[in-house]
Amino acid sequence: METNNNQGNKDPKKLRPRFNLSWLYWGIGLTLLTLWFANESGMGGSTKKVSYDEFQKYVRSGYIEQVVGYDDNSVEATVKRESVAQVFGADSTRVGQSPMIFTEAPSRESLGDFLEKEKEANAYDGTIEYEKKGNWFSMFLWQVLPFIFIIGFFMFISRRMSGGAGGGIFNVGKSKAQLFDKDGSHARVTFKDVAGLAGAKQEVEEIVEFLKHPGRYTELGGKIPKGALLVGPPGTGKTLLAKAVAGEADVPFFSLAGSDFVEMFVGVGASRVRDLFRQAKEKAPCIVFIDEIDAVGRARSKAAAMGGNDERESTLNQLLTEMDGFGSNSGIIILAATNRVDVLDKALLRAGRFDRQIHVDLPDLNERKEVFGVHLRPIKIDETVDVDLLARQTPGFSGADIANVCNEAALIAARHGKKFVGKQDFLNAVDRIVGGLEKKTKITTEAERRSIAIHEAGHASISWLLEHANPLIKVTIVPRGRALGAAWYLPEERQITTKEQMLDEMCATLGGRAAEDLFLGRISTGAMNDLERVTKQAFGMVAYLGMSEALPNLCYYDNNEYSYRSPYSEKTAELIDSEVKRIVNEQYERAKKILLENSAGHNKLSNLLIEKEVIFAEDVENIFGKRPWASRSEEIMKAKQQSAELKQLEQKEEQLAEEAEREVREHAEDNEESK
Ligand code: ADP
Ligand code: ZN
Repeated sequence: METNNNQGNKDPKKLRPRFNLSWLYWGIGLTLLTLWFANESGMGGSTKKVSYDEFQKYVRSGYIEQVVGYDDNSVEATVKRESVAQVFGADSTRVGQSPMIFTEAPSRESLGDFLEKEKEANAYDGTIEYEKKGNWFSMFLWQVLPFIFIIGFFMFISRRMSGGAGGGIFNVGKSKAQLFDKDGSHARVTFKDVAGLAGAKQEVEEIVEFLKHPGRYTELGGKIPKGALLVGPPGTGKTLLAKAVAGEADVPFFSLAGSDFVEMFVGVGASRVRDLFRQAKEKAPCIVFIDEIDAVGRARSKAAAMGGNDERESTLNQLLTEMDGFGSNSGIIILAATNRVDVLDKALLRAGRFDRQIHVDLPDLNERKEVFGVHLRPIKIDETVDVDLLARQTPGFSGADIANVCNEAALIAARHGKKFVGKQDFLNAVDRIVGGLEKKTKITTEAERRSIAIHEAGHASISWLLEHANPLIKVTIVPRGRALGAAWYLPEERQITTKEQMLDEMCATLGGRAAEDLFLGRISTGAMNDLERVTKQAFGMVAYLGMSEALPNLCYYDNNEYSYRSPYSEKTAELIDSEVKRIVNEQYERAKKILLENSAGHNKLSNLLIEKEVIFAEDVENIFGKRPWASRSEEIMKAKQQSAELKQLEQKEEQLAEEAEREVREHAEDNEESK
């Protein structure tokens, strides 16, 4: 927003672009005025300038109705309607309501004498008036003011248009970057506000250092990086991290999204890039943050004719040019965010551009605890709230999701008129964010509830009984959002996944349909979501991960979306299809087998579900017994706890040793003194 950028900017030099804009308005205004006057004094219209002789002739002929004489001897005369043809001749059709002629009299006296004479001779029967020609003002009022009004209105409209969306007809080429200045009203973000992300923070630390003390690096002949790419899923705090870098280094921060460059008109994107860098250079050292850079930075197509996008490409080219254009010492650092590096144009990743990539991943258990810590700060909580439990209940949540949970919990508590936010409010908020609002009003019949319960119990039983399946948190048959029932799992946040783990997960996902098939004897639409997931997973295993016997160690992954040739042959395609089918079928049969062997447990579980609607891991444990395997997150937690305990022990020992030493020393001193 343009107005934002110039806030608190008292340097007149930097206001210059404003004048450029107003020249345009003046240009338009002057053109219109000239046209008006040309029309006014010109050929035709309702007025005509005549000589004094002619004027006298018209008066004598009785064509004139009224005369006004001015003190500068100019004369205005109104022509009678019936005489218009005689006075104006060919122009008479264009004459308006008050046909007028102008002339210059030799003097006011002579005009008066002349008109007196004609009156007496009965040639003239109209009025005579004398006025002061101080009428510049009234002329101004009637002729110039309407234009000023029109121009003002025009400016107002275009302001209004540019105010909202940052566009406006005169501003299309301006960058839409939002500026967060150090003296602005925005609260400064620092690393304290960014929880977790230890690795990423360490990497950007260097950028902060450079912005603070550029000399230290350049003196040694080092080159400063121009840009870094923050790679990670949405909501993980990429924007926040970039803001924190600017906050720590105390430099201005420009923020915009890649899609802001893209407009329907060709050339607009490139001009916006230019404008952005012009602004950034004025504010250097500074940080420019481009969110979702893939909107402009996608690989340029090889065949432009095949749906190539000229506008996006010219925008990308301009961006590359600008990045090469500013020296590495200019103090502008560009941080860009994306969650898909693989689609970016290779030119963007070349040395001297975005050559470093900083990964910003979803928070793991301990990081989630930290994120909760940050977002619980402003919330009034009571003593029931357990951050550990919350972190465990929110696997797969991003930082933004957690911020959302905290906010939602506060809203839920407020809705119930509470003074403090409690544990249950948080759990409700988690459920709501995972599955949408509970729909107690959605009516389900007894048979439907039974069918849903059998399906969900199928998932729950199998995931409990298989070593590598995700451990269950809770199962419900209360409809939520669009889903009829749901099972919550604690996804194991693995760094790498083995084939066995993937197969176990598929088996558990197929458990719903398998249970319907086995215990109801009919299958339903409720499994569509499950099937979609399983099919995708199996396809990935075969085509991308080389995990099937028929196509071992082959990866057909292809990120080039512009290529029209599939990377494998028809024959391989058939083979992939049959392998996918085989894997899914095998897991389905396996799920059925497991359920058959444990049909008593499954039956108990589904009856419990029908009765209680919501059941938790404890209930499942009561039925099937404790799982013999520790889940990965449990192991990690334990390891963390152990290392923390170990540290405490060590500290205690050190303390004890120190104390003992001190005692010995004091003793020795005492002895010395007593000697
Ligand atoms: P991204 O740019 O990766 O999509 P954002 O930086 O816009 O994500 O994050 C959105 C919001 O989520 C932030 O304003 C913040 O409130 C919250 N958030 C995300 N990650 C974190 C984190 N690591 N620590 C604290 N808050 C976070
Ligand atoms: Zn299901």
